Amino acid sequence: MEVVRNCSLKKFNTFNVDEKAKVLVEIDKVGDLFTFLSKENQKDKMLVLGGGSNILFTKSYEGIIISLKNKGIELIDEDENNVLVEVSSGESWNDFVLWAVENNFGGVENLSLIPGNVGAAPIQNIGAYGVELKDIFHSCKGIMIDSLNEFELTKEECEFNYRSSIFKSTYKNKTIITSVKLILTKSKHNFNIEYKGLKENLLGKELTIKKISDQVIRIRKSKLPDPKSYGNCGSFFKNPIVNISKHEYLLNKFPDIPFFKIDNNNYKISAAWLIDQCNFKNKKVKDVGVYSNQPLVIINHGNAKGKDILHFANEIKGTVYGNFEIELEEEVLIL
Ligand SMILES: Cc1cc2nc3c(=O)[nH]c(=O)nc-3n(C[C@H](O)[C@H](O)[C@H](O)COP(=O)(O)OP(=O)(O)OC[C@H]3O[C@@H](n4cnc5c(N)ncnc54)[C@H](O)[C@@H]3O)c2cc1C
Repeated sequence: MEVVRNCSLKKFNTFNVDEKAKVLVEIDKVGDLFTFLSKENQKDKMLVLGGGSNILFTKSYEGIIISLKNKGIELIDEDENNVLVEVSSGESWNDFVLWAVENNFGGVENLSLIPGNVGAAPIQNIGAYGVELKDIFHSCKGIMIDSLNEFELTKEECEFNYRSSIFKSTYKNKTIITSVKLILTKSKHNFNIEYKGLKENLLGKELTIKKISDQVIRIRKSKLPDPKSYGNCGSFFKNPIVNISKHEYLLNKFPDIPFFKIDNNNYKISAAWLIDQCNFKNKKVKDVGVYSNQPLVIINHGNAKGKDILHFANEIKGTVYGNFEIELEEEVLIL
């Protein structure tokens, strides 16, 4: 366990903004987490930090940041079709996916190369290329910050939804997830290549978990900026969901608007398209701009401050609302 006071957060967030934390504690064992939390008088606010790939710091954090680094991947059950694995929160999500691919365990290959740690994956029910965490999720273990009681929550109890879960509502800032259990498949035939970029490249070919993972990685590398080169948090906004009457209104006014039907009453609209239509594609203000290949990604070209990024994001939000009467909602946590 290492405690650093007045700690620079620059290397702890993928926007690469240089704010400070009053205290940052790096913890690599769950036992040390209990020791730390029980000694702490808990007057200070607390934030659990994974890879910092979904957080925008706009000011110093006047509290305690817990950076959880516990490691381990354990195969805890197995039958002829599936394996149940328990993965510690401090594992890198992509290292875990690569482990699954190497062992020929299916289910997470579409989620290759998503930055961040395993412990954060349930928070927003990470998703990509037609798969969400909830599709393979079994349960997660953790600690309630106030009482220090341990918990284990099932998939149903986590209330997963599009980029959300109970950890963003009832349990917001109340829990520390210490491990996640996932059910992976041994099947060699149960693939999801419905997503356009995957179908185009893989349809008709003999599929393997590795081929799908490799293709996802190729597409992601061509579309998304590497935070090491350009600070970013992936999609800044969620794709907005509108009801049928709003959808009909939009379709009448903007016949090209891309959408995805969720059910008979709800439609998901492409936030990237909305932003693109507002001419933000090549816009740059000081060190902040949108990524040329993907307008949903806001990037730090160098030394942008968190406040500059937030200001730019708010400008996008206001313009989209002005043109489409759609309120974009941030996917990124703003602090
Ligand atoms: C280039 C790029 C591409 C991306 N692509 C995708 C994508 O395709 N799909 C997608 O869903 N996301 C994507 N993201 C967003 C991000 O990678 C995910 O949200 C990821 O799960 C965040 O993990 P993290 O460890 O960095 O979390 P952090 O940013 O550190 O934290 C995010 C939230 O989780 C909480 N948290 C973190 N760990 C714990 C824990 N152990 N217990 C309790 N709370 C915790 C934090 O307090 C915070 O509220 C992308 C980001 C980048 C930079």
